[in-house]
Amino acid sequence: MVDPQSLPANVTPLHTKIRDRIKTDGPLAVSEFMEIALGDPNHGYYRTRDPLGKAGDFITSPEISQVFGEIVGLWCAVTWQNTGAAKNIHLVELGPGRGTLMADILRTAQNVMPAFTEAIDVHLVETGKVLRQQQQEALNGYSVDWHDRFETVPPGPVLIVANEFFDALPIDQYIMTREGWQERRITTDQKQDGFLFKPCDPPSENNPIIPDELVDSPINSIFERSSAGEQIASDIAKRIATDGGAALIIDYGHVRHGLGDTLQAVKSHNYHCPLATIGEADLTAHIDFAALENAAKASGAIVHGPVFQGGLLTALGIEQRTEALAATATPDQAEILESASRRLIAADGMGTLFKAMAITSVADSTPAGFEGYAVESVS
Ligand code: SAH
Repeated sequence: MVDPQSLPANVTPLHTKIRDRIKTDGPLAVSEFMEIALGDPNHGYYRTRDPLGKAGDFITSPEISQVFGEIVGLWCAVTWQNTGAAKNIHLVELGPGRGTLMADILRTAQNVMPAFTEAIDVHLVETGKVLRQQQQEALNGYSVDWHDRFETVPPGPVLIVANEFFDALPIDQYIMTREGWQERRITTDQKQDGFLFKPCDPPSENNPIIPDELVDSPINSIFERSSAGEQIASDIAKRIATDGGAALIIDYGHVRHGLGDTLQAVKSHNYHCPLATIGEADLTAHIDFAALENAAKASGAIVHGPVFQGGLLTALGIEQRTEALAATATPDQAEILESASRRLIAADGMGTLFKAMAITSVADSTPAGFEGYAVESVS
């Protein structure tokens, strides 16, 4: 094993770990590569840092404007009321980042529906130590339980929020070759100092992982699947179906099963090669909302949407809320608030790139903001 300290800067400790692993086990699945790059206990990207904000690698909606979390908080309070106002309910956030969204949700809940605040206890599903610390600071004064996984959230009704969580979960890739569909794995290059993608034996004879409508795709087409994402969608749907509550998932991705290589690495707000600077760049992939929907439905829940983020935020009053805040702000602050809200709902940007999907039990009606305008034709 090479001492990582003696290698050039972009040969990170995880670069070495992955190279050694390929030497012994052969080419790695993309999901195994992502699990190590993002989740390695010592050097994984999310385990070791706070990646958010201007000084970090990327920025998210709750960090762009407090109004995002206020609208989500309003949605939570109204949904709690419409799903039977359970006396006790777990408010769960998956991948809470800096805790900004949860802090905005709790402040809003207290303002708009104090009875909701009394019913909730807060659970955060987060694997990163540095981010847990940030969350603790953001939620100072609240009682919070942390979990590594959703399964350890105690039984009972749940309201679940996940913003840009599913895009951080590992995916596998499959590629159409002259021999048919094969798995796209990662191996070392000839000089053994870099990595490349390599089609490997098909995962099984009949390619059962490829959706029917995509089986006959052109050579070099890539199909992605996140088993981890589907598993979590299934777990939360099962919980909602049996114990009640709802989930709100907001992320970027396609509404139907689609083709394309969406694995991307971002560092300091710029795109990087996903196979370089391993553990030091964020790795994400687009969400396949249809796959999450199928997993949730198979577990006995109902799925609403996806709807565009812009449509959801507008239906729930982002413009009115922004106006109200701007009215009491200085002209400079008002301009910042207004331009942040415009950014969140922009039809040529975040407003349509991001979509929202809700999960409820069969007994419950359509949640606020999801009436009548599911995104049908967007891929
Ligand atoms: N929701 C936040 C942060 C998005 S970044 C926001 O909108 O600002 C992704 C978040 O998911 C981070 O908090 C990261 O540490 C967490 N995360 C990534 N993979 C995870 C996993 N497998 N289990 C739990 N949390 C995870």
